[in-house]
Amino acid sequence: MKETIRTRFAPSPTGFMHIGNLRTGLYAYLFARKNGGKFILRIEDTDRERKVDGAVEMVYRTLASAGITYDEGPDKDGGYGPYIQTERMHIYKEYAEKLVEMGGAYYCFCDKERLEGLKDENGVHTYDKHCRNLSKEEVERRLSAGEPYVIRQKVPENIVSEYEDMVFGKISVNTADIEDGVLLKSDGLPTYNFANVVDDHLMGITHVIRGTEYLSSTPKYNLIYDAFGWERPHYMHLPPIMKDATRKLSKRFGDANFEDFIAKGYLPEAIVNYIALLGWCPKDNREKMSMQELIEAFDTDGISKSSSIFDETKMRWLNGEYLKSMSEEEFYTIALPWIKNAVGEADFDERELAKLMHTRVDILGDIPEKLSFLNKFGNYDLALYNHQKMKIDAEVAKRAVEVALIALKGFDNWTEDGVKERIRRAAEESGMKSGQVMFAMRVAITGEPVTPGGAIEMALVLKKGETIRRLEQSLAMLQQR
Ligand code: GLU
Repeated sequence: MKETIRTRFAPSPTGFMHIGNLRTGLYAYLFARKNGGKFILRIEDTDRERKVDGAVEMVYRTLASAGITYDEGPDKDGGYGPYIQTERMHIYKEYAEKLVEMGGAYYCFCDKERLEGLKDENGVHTYDKHCRNLSKEEVERRLSAGEPYVIRQKVPENIVSEYEDMVFGKISVNTADIEDGVLLKSDGLPTYNFANVVDDHLMGITHVIRGTEYLSSTPKYNLIYDAFGWERPHYMHLPPIMKDATRKLSKRFGDANFEDFIAKGYLPEAIVNYIALLGWCPKDNREKMSMQELIEAFDTDGISKSSSIFDETKMRWLNGEYLKSMSEEEFYTIALPWIKNAVGEADFDERELAKLMHTRVDILGDIPEKLSFLNKFGNYDLALYNHQKMKIDAEVAKRAVEVALIALKGFDNWTEDGVKERIRRAAEESGMKSGQVMFAMRVAITGEPVTPGGAIEMALVLKKGETIRRLEQSLAMLQQR
């Protein structure tokens, strides 16, 4: 029988959810779903100093918003819990002690001063295995005397530890280069190095999917699996996402945070789609893909070994594609808060504004900028009316605005067709070109050189009352010239 694939996402609640982290979670999710497996969420919160309040809730929020659903996790018991590391402390201690008994680890009583003394000129120390061969009796005696201790990994000497990474191929390290690192700290907390192994084993993880920063430590983790006599999982390490050619995107620089992009007006599905393609490519090079399509197409072959550069311009474009593919109603619903925000108290036609914005923005956050002109109407430069090709100057404009005003003042069929036809007719009757009246009318009701949409669209947005008021004001300005 084929094993059931189990993957996990193991974020540390040390701040916001960075795009690179989310991509790691996404790939683990896609791999599990593609293979009919299970996807598990584990919170790695043993680093108490780096823990940030609210960060765990942010993990839940982000995954929910991104549409990444897990089968097991802190709030979804699947029989392998607890899924929060700080709730597993007794487990790590028990397994560390067990590993000592099995010969894969040892107690170390070296104090700070001694370790300080081992530092090289760069301030880095490599443990000199001082306590590796203490007698059982001495260890017993010092433990019962209450001496502080850590438990260290007893790395087998001078062998080659290797494994086959699903992305990077064979990775091998000579154990001469591996330190007898700490597994359990003096405060009883495990190090990441130990906790990830114990948890992945006990949670039945078959495929460990994580960033390349762990690629070269994995041979060391594998030695722990071996020492316990546990089966090693498969590994898939993912290259980093870069800010540019030399810098990694990172939490520390405060960039590329999922929730910040949402706040800027990106759609979660567009972000997920974009980051899925950062480091992986489907065989047919498709770009716009739903989560279901990503699941179906996801394969390890498509994962790149080299790092990728985060390109917000590309993500904007993709987001624009998502917006354009929405129905008018869907777009209206999500755009409305942004529109309200942009127009404030003004009584504009929000549906018309949504129609106008639908094909003109890439992200919802562009809306306020695009609409800011609406509330700025006031004293504008009359030179805006000049249009050589259409033979419009201030004199023609004055007539045109007057024609529009008279035509619309007593007119109530305020629809696209209604207003358009009314203006067309009025232009004809006054011997002007309909294009001239439309152009002058657009300037007269917006006071802007360019607007998203022409005279009719602007009139619909402003509604009748404001349209008439602005035509009157503009006519007065043209008359006083
Ligand atoms: N907590 C680790 C991190 O956030 C997870 C590493 C792993 O997936 O094993 O980097």
